[in-house]
Amino acid sequence: VIVVVSALGGITDKLINTSQMAANGDSAYEKEYREIVNRHIEMVYTVIPAGNERTVLLDKVNELLSELKDIFQGIYLIKDLSSKTSATIVSYGERLSSIIVASLIKGAVWYDSRNFIKTEKKHAKHILDSELTTRLVKETFQKLPEVALVPGFISTDSGEVTNLGRGGSDYTASVIAAALNADSLEIWTDVDGFMTADPRVISTAYTINELSYVEAMELCNFGAKVVYPPTIYPVCHKNIPILIKNTFNPQGEGTIIKQEVNSGSKAIKGISSINDTSLITVTGLGMVGVIGVNFRIFKALAQNGISVFMVSQASSENSTSIGVRNQDAALACEVLNEEFSKEIEMGEISPVVAEMNLATIAIVGENMKHTPGIAGKLFGTLGRNGISVIACAQGASETNISFVVESKSLRKSLNVIHDSFFLSEYQVLNLFICGTGTVGGSLIEQIRCQQQKLMQERGLKLKVVGIADGHHALFTRAGVDLSHYKEELAEKGMPSSTQVLHDEIIGMNIFNSVFVDCTASAEVASLYKDFLMNNISVVAA
Ligand code: ASP
Ligand code: MG
Repeated sequence: VIVVVSALGGITDKLINTSQMAANGDSAYEKEYREIVNRHIEMVYTVIPAGNERTVLLDKVNELLSELKDIFQGIYLIKDLSSKTSATIVSYGERLSSIIVASLIKGAVWYDSRNFIKTEKKHAKHILDSELTTRLVKETFQKLPEVALVPGFISTDSGEVTNLGRGGSDYTASVIAAALNADSLEIWTDVDGFMTADPRVISTAYTINELSYVEAMELCNFGAKVVYPPTIYPVCHKNIPILIKNTFNPQGEGTIIKQEVNSGSKAIKGISSINDTSLITVTGLGMVGVIGVNFRIFKALAQNGISVFMVSQASSENSTSIGVRNQDAALACEVLNEEFSKEIEMGEISPVVAEMNLATIAIVGENMKHTPGIAGKLFGTLGRNGISVIACAQGASETNISFVVESKSLRKSLNVIHDSFFLSEYQVLNLFICGTGTVGGSLIEQIRCQQQKLMQERGLKLKVVGIADGHHALFTRAGVDLSHYKEELAEKGMPSSTQVLHDEIIGMNIFNSVFVDCTASAEVASLYKDFLMNNISVVAA
């Protein structure tokens, strides 16, 4: 067994944070540093029993921590933080955690990954030198002890400390597994595995037990922070299965990723999403039929280290849209405007601008291959819910359909897609009830009495997500507790008005929603049109 460890939870962030504080001349960095110290010392006291071993370990830990202290102090004095120093600092996270775990596991032998995980510099980024690393890993582990312990994440490039990027410990493990033809690669993390969708948004999302390498690659690309994306490739290449397990729920089945999977009957395996998208469009009549426009777009972006995660070009060749992260948008526009400055001046191409704050969603699964109707179902579902698709892309591999929507529609899109592709046990209807007099009050009481029965017998979940009377209005995605709605309305409600109803209900942008008007007010009725325009159904008493 070779155990690869990452830093103690949260420590890498803390190391980065502390060094930035020191570089900014903020003396409070010392407090942050002390917390790092305490965290490690406490860990040693918690997991290693008192005795000689603990003393020896504490000496080593303290030595590393005092080196770290000197480095932070240096930064604080000089107020300069180079990327080289930064990489050295974050390496302490893994160096510390690995010696603690090495002493915790009886007979474990500690190996210094700086000696065999090697990077090279490309486009101002350190990337794995995979040939050299594979050779060195093979040499290092020619004779394997029963348990070998390796700090993940860290690497070197001709003596300089580098790393494999945030989340890089998974990658370290994968590279070692591939070099040594391991039987399997296990990633022990803090979630149950890959989920059908982001569980923070979709409460009915569930763990996917089997995924092919391709599907896992598609799903981990963004959103799902289950494994660091580069992890998949080295082992996939060698056909070594990856098992993802939850350290906090070892009984859970987890997710297994391998070549051949039982693909099941569902059309898609999962939905990935990211709320951090800008769309940059290069467009102009002067582009049609001109060869090399896309070449120049991608060359300019690549030379500036901008990663593109979605591309869409219409067959008219009239425009190319590119999805990048919000933080890259300004630079991307700048370099494209420069690249095409001549054409822009001539009016052949329009000045490049970014549409910011969008969201990208992708449905993923190998079953989509050669299956007609998936895109139809996807866009039909979105259309019926009034969600407009700004751009979309499907590669010929047919394992992923990606599309871009406004950020505010992300939650709703995920809900309706999850509902339509993963038959949930029940259908949800989100109700807004306006008026709590005789009619409204009776309706609420009827719903309260029948909620359970409707769910069990009809698979229909009626959720009252908004209630308003003449004075107050209360909105909650989780649903109002109907046994106490009067008290809640009075205590937590906001002052009610037609404007409030209009803005809140449309602003919530919730899926499968129905506005039930139990008033006799012409003013309330005047809201119907806007509700209907926003795909909110209307019921009038
Ligand atoms: N400790 C590193 C990080 O937080 C590497 C890892 O956790 O995989 O990014
Ligand atoms: Mg990690």
